[in-house]
Amino acid sequence: MSTRPMISRSDRPSASRRAQLAPRSIAAGRGAARVAPISVPVTPAPPFRLASRQFHPESTVVRAGGVSIGGSAGLVVIAGPCSIESRRQILESARRVKAAGANMLRGGAYKPRTSPYDFQGLGAKALGWLVEAREETGLPIVTEVLSQENVELVAEHVDLIQVGARNMQNTALLRKLARTKKPVLLKRGPSATIAEWLLAAEYLLAGGNPNVVLCERGIRTFETATRNTLDLAGVALVKQLSHLPVIVDPSHATGLSALVPAASRAAVAVGADGLLIEVHPRPAEAWSDGAQSLDPAVFAALLEDLRAWSPRLNGHA
Ligand code: PEP
Ligand code: MN
Repeated sequence: MSTRPMISRSDRPSASRRAQLAPRSIAAGRGAARVAPISVPVTPAPPFRLASRQFHPESTVVRAGGVSIGGSAGLVVIAGPCSIESRRQILESARRVKAAGANMLRGGAYKPRTSPYDFQGLGAKALGWLVEAREETGLPIVTEVLSQENVELVAEHVDLIQVGARNMQNTALLRKLARTKKPVLLKRGPSATIAEWLLAAEYLLAGGNPNVVLCERGIRTFETATRNTLDLAGVALVKQLSHLPVIVDPSHATGLSALVPAASRAAVAVGADGLLIEVHPRPAEAWSDGAQSLDPAVFAALLEDLRAWSPRLNGHA
């Protein structure tokens, strides 16, 4: 069937009238009434070549301490306290998050605090307790490395090394971490664009480390009611732009424990490959980030809820 408009010969405007009606570009030249070809801008190659899905269509699966993150692997849940406060606190946290179904244990030994007067972490001693918690529970461990001087120590002991939001563009640190080839969890800087975030990942990839997991943890906007603004569309976009796994940290993104369950469900709905959730045995007593930390019972209920409607959680649980 013809899709041409039904215009009888007599209704048809004359050639000169057609030229007048047509936009300038169409009217110019022969065959004036023909539709001009639409010029499609050629998509420029993204500057983040190695992180781009354009050159690597299959989703990357990063293996950290025996846990697969990304691709068709199940949803990975990393949980634990913001800071490691004592041997007892991290061991208790490990047992509780493991019982609830977490796949990995987090805990900060070196803390990047906004104020130099706030608790800065217990350092190497805390790292030792984190290793002990892995030995007892079998959960692979995640901790942040703050500076180049601790890279060897942290890389030797942990399964997934976190680069915090404040360090996303610390290129010397990224280059050094690239050389370790250890899995890296690269948090998005609070004011970083998606391109800047992917270019930070590019430092790790170009430096020879393919084991990169991205983490959206909220960005700074005009809104102050929540600690940050969770960029959910950004997560969906990065999943399209890049083959790297993307997880979401609803704790730092919201700053409020009451919002963590809803933000977690939203993250799963937009296709996140995992969640990083702060859980403390007694949030009211936490030395850092207590307001956004979940009580272990609430965390267990959240995973139960997620399990009920996301078959991906069962992949690991
Ligand atoms: C943290 O995970 O405790 C942390 C400090 O996170 P961020 O770097 O996202 O602020
Ligand atoms: Mn924290």
